[in-house]
Amino acid sequence: MQASPGMKTCLSCGKPLKGRVDKKFCDDYCRNNYNNQQKAKGSYSNLVRNINNALMKNRKVLESILPTTEETAKANKDKLLNLGFQFKYLTHIYTTRTGKKYFYCYDYGYLPLDNDWFLIVRKKEE
Ligand SMILES: [Zn+2]
Repeated sequence: MQASPGMKTCLSCGKPLKGRVDKKFCDDYCRNNYNNQQKAKGSYSNLVRNINNALMKNRKVLESILPTTEETAKANKDKLLNLGFQFKYLTHIYTTRTGKKYFYCYDYGYLPLDNDWFLIVRKKEE
């Protein structure tokens, strides 16, 4: 059966609803199904938002360390951690021909050096 305009349909399965005007679902099965879907959607978007925030924060930290007038800067691990940098979040890795790995958060990145020091770099326009 096709739902006609104005006819209330189940929020879960989309079938036309009969009966009480305030009904939103066919039955408990559809209600539970819908509620579970909403919950899953909510936790997924929280996860995505948290990761996006962490990446933006990482970028801000690197940006704050590297003066716009300089090409590179150095910072140690403690300084980065104190500023709220989270090493597990990055957008991509660039490996040079010599095998050095730069870890990027958007246009800012770092190259691990000896003794927990890091070289902070900014990606140049290509
Ligand atoms: Zn239904």
